[in-house]
Amino acid sequence: MDLGLKGKVALVTAASRGLGRAVARQLAEEGAALAICARQADRLEATGAAIRRATGVDVLAVPADVSVPEDVDRLAETTLDRFGRIDILIANAGGPPPGRFLDLTPDDWEAAARLTLMSAVRLCYGVVPLMRTRGGGSIVAMTSVSVKQPLPNLLLSNSLRLAVIGLVKSMADELAPDGIRVNAVCPGWTRTERVEELLQDRAARSGTTPEEEAAKITAAIPLGRMGTPEELARAVAFLASPAASYITGVSLLVDGGMYRGTM
Ligand code: NAD
Repeated sequence: MDLGLKGKVALVTAASRGLGRAVARQLAEEGAALAICARQADRLEATGAAIRRATGVDVLAVPADVSVPEDVDRLAETTLDRFGRIDILIANAGGPPPGRFLDLTPDDWEAAARLTLMSAVRLCYGVVPLMRTRGGGSIVAMTSVSVKQPLPNLLLSNSLRLAVIGLVKSMADELAPDGIRVNAVCPGWTRTERVEELLQDRAARSGTTPEEEAAKITAAIPLGRMGTPEELARAVAFLASPAASYITGVSLLVDGGMYRGTM
């Protein structure tokens, strides 16, 4: 199936590694030109160069922190200056810190709101007027399986990502007449660098190995393993693409069946 991404311009945030990088790479393989961002310029540039080399597409790498309003504005402007349009936004960011309610402070909540909710809000303000002028576009917000089933010790993620889903559902309704589709993707356990670090940390604290820690997690996943970043990236590329032209306002789980609810 041709996803119809050739010649499109995609802005993928938080893309120097992990899920963001995998999504950027997948979109590039389908022929989309890219703007990518992350905070660390050297790592971001290395990712941009690798995608450029592998796919031959134009990749603009803009160092930016998505929790900083001025950075988000500059990112949208630089992308527009370079490509003259933005057809696709993948709104991704690093995860908020773990913690139970009484471990966290109100300041932690405000910082997490800037990172998880306001980054998506500001990115949408950066691209929606352009998409409207051009007669359409597609936005995918990266959330988590936690929006269906809250996860222990992840109060900030459990709470703030639901606000992102509210944003997605509301914008999907409001912007459909402008040809703009807005969706969310909800990854379950996906084996990125961040998850590797988490497994190492859990193993060190419980005197086990990272594989033993992974096995405890995968025991609860019907498909019996964690996902790969590429599996998540293929789902996101589809959702973002013209091939998904009749899909808007959905929260697509990519979790190996981990969420067992019916809704
Ligand atoms: P990761 O740590 O491997 O990668 C995160 C990327 O975001 C890196 O490129 C990092 O440089 C960048 N980044 C972090 N904070 C940033 C900021 N403020 N501004 C710009 N760039 C920033 O993480 P990941 O596993 O790829 O996860 C990506 C997102 O998906 C996170 O929000 C995470 O919580 C969520 N998620 C991940 C999983 C999983 O299993 N991997 C599951 C559910 C949800």
